[in-house]
Amino acid sequence: MPELNVKETSSLERMIQQQVVERGIRDPRVLTALRSVPREQFFRKEMRREAFADRSAPIGHGQTISQPYIVALMTSRLDIGPEHRVLEIGTGSGYHTAVLAKLAHEVYSVERVKPLLDEAFERLYGLGIHNVHFRFGDGTLGWPDQAPFDRILIAAGAPKIPEELLREQLKDGGIAVLPYGPEDEQMMVEIRKQGDELTTTEVCPCRFVKLIGKEGWEPETTE
Ligand code: SAH
Repeated sequence: MPELNVKETSSLERMIQQQVVERGIRDPRVLTALRSVPREQFFRKEMRREAFADRSAPIGHGQTISQPYIVALMTSRLDIGPEHRVLEIGTGSGYHTAVLAKLAHEVYSVERVKPLLDEAFERLYGLGIHNVHFRFGDGTLGWPDQAPFDRILIAAGAPKIPEELLREQLKDGGIAVLPYGPEDEQMMVEIRKQGDELTTTEVCPCRFVKLIGKEGWEPETTE
């Protein structure tokens, strides 16, 4: 038996320390959630060596799994409590969905690419995460029969803030985090709703894949 080296940290732990904690995200709930999700399981076999790298990575269908820091940053800005119901738009690999599921009461996740949704469903099921509801379709329409939500996360970039969705499906006192702006660079924003007021705070410039739908970009003509 090889001797256990207590100083040796796992790749996941190193990722959390170097990419998340050292960049200022210290919320213990967020760190615990990141520690409890095996990120490598959200990568296809041939991409696994990318699992802990400091960047996004392809997941097929022209989409990407978000950079670990971006997942941590958006999650900490959402300030999720254990009683919260969270709407996530853009399931992708399901990695961020799993992180949200560790923090929230229920997660409602919508994805417009069916094979990605199916893979994410399988992964979360395999990990024993059961507080996530999945839906195939345009997430900019939200999930009307489950609305309003305490928190809304949009993991793809819209040309403008999807106000109709936030006005109709975010709870009073709720928080949404999303990127918006031109295709080559967006601004991540935190939006708080108080009564009819939406107050927007800029978080940082970022680059996401396109949010495609009613309150997003038009679908490509080749789709
Ligand atoms: N956070 C995810 C990555 C999301 S990538 C992860 O950790 O893996 C953004 C996803 O948003 C893509 O899968 C894309 O297909 C999806 N998407 C884009 N527009 C959408 C829409 N209107 N409704 C639902 N999903 C959408």
